[in-house]
Amino acid sequence: MGGGNGMKSAMSREKNAKKNAAGAGSQLKVNAAAQTFKCVVCMTTFQSTTKPPQLLIHAENKHKKTLADCFPGVTA
Ligand SMILES: [Zn+2]
Repeated sequence: MGGGNGMKSAMSREKNAKKNAAGAGSQLKVNAAAQTFKCVVCMTTFQSTTKPPQLLIHAENKHKKTLADCFPGVTA
């Protein structure tokens, strides 16, 4: 009887571990996909929700450069 319970707990733990691993993996994917803007000067990443004007502020304030210099392909 006791052995049966131990088996159940082990399976339960394994199930949880798999669940957590899958959750962490998908979260990383989400984070990677969300960070779509990358400053080529300092490699800082910005979330896709960041507006071009905010990127321009970064470019000008951080590097004294233009938007195109830091974020090629991004237009204000
Ligand atoms: Zn930068």
